[in-house]
Amino acid sequence: MTSFRFEALKAASNRKPVAVPELGKKSEIFGSNVFNDKAMRQHLTSEAYKAVRSAMDYGTKIDRKMADFVALGMKEWAMSKGVTHYTHWFQPLTGTTAEKHDAFFETSFDGADPVEKFSGSLLVQQEPDASSFPNGGIRNTFEARGYTAWDPTSPAFIFGTTLCIPTVFVSYTGEALDNKAPLLRALLSIDEAATEVAKFFDKNVKKVTPTLGWEQEYFLIDDALAASRPDILQTGRTLLGHVSAKGQQLEDHYFGSIPTRVLNYMRDLENECMLLGIPVKTRHNEVAPNQFELAPIFEETNLAVDHNSLLMDVMQKVGERHHFKVLFHEKPFKGVNGSGKHNNWSLATDTGVNLLAPGKTPNSNLQFLTFFINTIKAVSIYEELLRASIASASNDHRLGANEAPPAIISIFIGQQLTKVLEELEGVSTGKLSPEEKTDLKLNVVGKIPDVLLDNTDRNRTSPFAFTGNKFEFRAVGSTANCANAMTTLNAIVAKQLIDFKKEVDALIETGLKKDEAIFNVLREYIKETKNILFEGDGYSKEWEEEAARRGLSNHKTTPSALKAKVSQKSLDLFSELNVMNNTEVEARYEIELEDYIKKIQIEGRVLGDIVRNHIIPTAFKYQNILIKNIKGFKDIFGDDYEEYAGEQLIILKKISMHVNELNAKLHLMMDARKEANVVESLEERAHAYCDKVKPYYDEIRYHADKLELMVDNEFWVLTKYRELLFTR
Ligand code: ADP
Ligand code: MG
Repeated sequence: MTSFRFEALKAASNRKPVAVPELGKKSEIFGSNVFNDKAMRQHLTSEAYKAVRSAMDYGTKIDRKMADFVALGMKEWAMSKGVTHYTHWFQPLTGTTAEKHDAFFETSFDGADPVEKFSGSLLVQQEPDASSFPNGGIRNTFEARGYTAWDPTSPAFIFGTTLCIPTVFVSYTGEALDNKAPLLRALLSIDEAATEVAKFFDKNVKKVTPTLGWEQEYFLIDDALAASRPDILQTGRTLLGHVSAKGQQLEDHYFGSIPTRVLNYMRDLENECMLLGIPVKTRHNEVAPNQFELAPIFEETNLAVDHNSLLMDVMQKVGERHHFKVLFHEKPFKGVNGSGKHNNWSLATDTGVNLLAPGKTPNSNLQFLTFFINTIKAVSIYEELLRASIASASNDHRLGANEAPPAIISIFIGQQLTKVLEELEGVSTGKLSPEEKTDLKLNVVGKIPDVLLDNTDRNRTSPFAFTGNKFEFRAVGSTANCANAMTTLNAIVAKQLIDFKKEVDALIETGLKKDEAIFNVLREYIKETKNILFEGDGYSKEWEEEAARRGLSNHKTTPSALKAKVSQKSLDLFSELNVMNNTEVEARYEIELEDYIKKIQIEGRVLGDIVRNHIIPTAFKYQNILIKNIKGFKDIFGDDYEEYAGEQLIILKKISMHVNELNAKLHLMMDARKEANVVESLEERAHAYCDKVKPYYDEIRYHADKLELMVDNEFWVLTKYRELLFTR
């Protein structure tokens, strides 16, 4: 009987590229499955249109009567496109998306008067059975239910034959049970705070919108091969497997020509994205074999977060058509690069200005410096919280594991801007002389645009880098919902801008001119934030030591990184800004600890199963062949057999040694797991899994991978690295 592995290899190597339908020009199909401005104008009364527009732009409420009109228009539009069902689409704290489909179809109990219906109340609010979503103790099942509520700032869209309505998910007592509600609150607070500060420079600014452009990295594996690996199916990564001889050392994959099968997948995916209004723009090979990246044009943050969540679903669905499994895991394969999701972030005003882009005048440059330095200050105060916002079992494989980027949060700004900050540090205290003002205008603030153009020394090892007109938060994991990182980043910068405004106002009260006050506050910030700036090699041992001297945190594991979430500093921040109350923050902490424990627990179980059911039996089978072979030699050569069968004997013994070790380690791991499972405190249990259970995984892997090298290739049942990584 051929093994599953060889069946899978045969299927994979016989694949042909799947044809992709031509849908026409991107600009023509873009957003055609989105209830966007154009669709709203066509299908809503002008009153209803205005109500939605105003809710989108200014957060005003939509009353029930108006909601009925909106629902009607939405239904007409959706049905004209063959839609039969609708769903409230939301992002529970599982990290994925959730949906429950209901048909528009309704009829009376006797089957008379069948009709397609969708009312304002169904649009605005629903009550999914929330008891099966994580809630971190906020909701007891016997208590109040949760409900989903329409988020008009993210437009409804059609996927397949379902109308999807983006919603927030909250408990009856009002606590957020999802990723979106806190994000929306954080975006509101940074809008308010940044608008106040932007008004120092331009009175006409009424709104500031945080922007996000994510870059999604992923691996594509033939689905037959993926199905042949229980670890990939159940944990999203390989728990075992000897590293293939060829990996990424030839550096021949990055930006290389994209294989046809993959290209067709990407084109199909891009078509789907266009219909859904996800403005994808860039596609290329990444560093590791079978690793790729996709990036959109940046958008308003809430929409960008929704689009990324939606994209991850769509990628998997389109993958099925092309017989690909998409791996989002941060480290699916040992020995080659892992995946991240860079979050490019900036602030845009309703007057069309990017607040993190240097301008053409000294005034606009001072505005740039203000937002630039305040962001640095926010990160320097809350670096630990920022680290907590990206912590997960899978991201632990990247951060602090000798791979981009380190677990220490620092900021890279480039030599040129470092110089600018140094000069600003010399600004006099209090009032500035006319000469100093002129000098600042001409030589420091005035020079920034030229300077940034040659800011080419991009440091790829930095977790948080300034890249010309935006900050790039690179430590976010490829599986993450961007909401967690974006809620935190926008909240800390909001808080910082509020404090900045207060400080500047106070100095103006004492008689300083506005610019003088701003220079004075910024100068102090520059002095206070030196610790967070780092231009060197983030992977080096020296940096770890240096960072420790600077007092920067270096949390290498999720249980230790998460703790900062529930520090007094964090609780105060989130409650002061109304982003999350203490219960909401604590619930998230619990949920994330639980998630960590479960992920590590599942890995342990899968590893145990594979070793016992696949690896050890295979080793025994091969040993039987060797034994037979050695016996044969004995039959022929008698006592001299060792002279001829020496190598076989050595292998036979080595296999036994590795099998013994595997068995021993498996038992130790199981004992450690049993002990961890009965630890009462969630926090301590997470640490037990991290420090006592997980270390066995590498030890077990070591012996299993050695066996892979020894056992006849024909016998080995687990699809090998070289097959997973180089089949296209
Ligand atoms: P890479 O990091 O791969 O070299 P870039 O630095 O050019 O690529 O990053 C491109 C990403 O940055 C895109 O996703 C783009 O949408 C995003 N981006 C560009 N400008 C902004 C901005 N003002 N706000 C947020 N994201 C932005
Ligand atoms: Mg990038």
